[in-house]
Amino acid sequence: MSDKEFDLIIIGGGPGGYVAAIRAAQLEMKVLLIDDRQAEDGKPAPGGTCLNVGCVPSKALLDSSKHYHHIQHDYAAHGISVESVAMDIGQMIGRKRQVVKQLNGGLLQLFKANKIEFANGRGQLLADRVVEVAPNEGETYRVHGEHVILAAGSVPFTIPNVAIDGEHIVDNVGVLEFDAVPERLGVIGAGVIGLEMGSVWKRLGSEVILFEAMDQLLPVIDKDMSRAAVREFKKQGLDIRLGTKVAGAELVDGKVSVTYSEGDEEKTEVFDKLLVAVGRRAASEALLAEDSGVELTERGQVAVDEHCRTSADNVWAIGDLVRGPMLAHKASEEGVAVVETIAGQHGHINLDHVPWVIYTDPEIAWVGQTEKDLKEAGVDYKAGSFPFAATGRGLAMGEAAGQVKILADAETDRILGAQIIGPTASEMIAEIVVAMEFAGASEDLARIVHAHPTLSEAIHEAALAVDKRAIHKA
Ligand code: FAD
Repeated sequence: MSDKEFDLIIIGGGPGGYVAAIRAAQLEMKVLLIDDRQAEDGKPAPGGTCLNVGCVPSKALLDSSKHYHHIQHDYAAHGISVESVAMDIGQMIGRKRQVVKQLNGGLLQLFKANKIEFANGRGQLLADRVVEVAPNEGETYRVHGEHVILAAGSVPFTIPNVAIDGEHIVDNVGVLEFDAVPERLGVIGAGVIGLEMGSVWKRLGSEVILFEAMDQLLPVIDKDMSRAAVREFKKQGLDIRLGTKVAGAELVDGKVSVTYSEGDEEKTEVFDKLLVAVGRRAASEALLAEDSGVELTERGQVAVDEHCRTSADNVWAIGDLVRGPMLAHKASEEGVAVVETIAGQHGHINLDHVPWVIYTDPEIAWVGQTEKDLKEAGVDYKAGSFPFAATGRGLAMGEAAGQVKILADAETDRILGAQIIGPTASEMIAEIVVAMEFAGASEDLARIVHAHPTLSEAIHEAALAVDKRAIHKA
């Protein structure tokens, strides 16, 4: 039997688990949150992959490297000359660590303020919602929850013949900790993580080659948008090799030798560092005892219904551990929805309108369906697009690359999807998400007054372009 009773036990303290814990505490549940992550100093490091080795530290490095790049390449056009610019990598990494540490501490305070019991250690679900907790320090004990949420997140995929050593061949953890700029950086996988981290080190001076097995960069967006992104990345000097398959990597005299095929040809490149960024898989290992009653899918994800219910009574699962986009905000909103459902409210998340963002420069953001999706579904649609180069604000900022594209139903005009490549695309996509959540039409966006001069005018004009009446476009 278990020692202690909780209304809710959550295993995993990432953006899924910790947000669920706070919402549950607001709803007066007695909550235990279990997370195994520790900082280098041995202190608990809640916040999951996202805060510790994902969203937040990657954005800190993207911002630092963007400043460095702008000073060198863009200031002169504004009439600003800078005599000499130097980059202190130790300072940059230290700043990133400080941002993470501050947020770890902020979360621990939030747990205290909300009276959430927090256990720093590993949790495993046994039968009948008993959870065995193995603390990082101390004896193993058992607890019981009226409800349990599994929020264990994900871990990186590995590939055969490419062994991560954490020093020369790294995953998302190692790439955030380089102590010097690698002269040559290889990246396997030109997805979100590969593009973001490739951009960071390219801006700081690395020669970066990205190997991508697919023939199209980011097949999740439309071909014209993907081609526009490739053009921008090429201008920045990122060497993206589409249609290449890495066969293996080995350490030779302190360097990483990568063999790969391009068509029928076998080729080799030698790097100082190699990043493996080929996607992530659910962290379902060692989470469940054999008799937990929770079923997994063929892909090792926890199987859930549309309300995040697993096959075991009162056991729920959210975030990267289950189907759907592997994104922090999706995990958080699922956490809130599950807790509100447990409390008898109407918990809800619409997976069709989850925005995606890549924080490269320019940023890339999208939501809803693409032209390919609509064609496959046999939906008749209209498209409107508008370039930032035709906006006063984009030109004034000196950041006029990219465009907004909106897809709307040909008959009803309802917005079905949108893609943005451009400055602050990460912020601007929210306007379209709101419009889609309210079942808006492109005509609604077209009739909304947008401030001038702003980048959001490109959304307004793209909406007008759906009806072929954009003002500043021939
Ligand atoms: P996680 O954040 O993975 O948290 C799960 C936690 O549970 C971890 O701390 C784990 O150690 C712990 N845990 C696992 N098993 C157990 C156990 N048995 N007992 C106790 N604890 C356990 N998403 C975005 O939306 N925006 C971004 O900009 C973004 N950038 C990213 C950049 C990188 C480099 C990476 C790797 C990911 C990025 N992501 C981003 C994805 C995002 O990090 C994940 O989608 C998100 O963290 C998922 O949240 P989660 O709560 O499901 O799991």
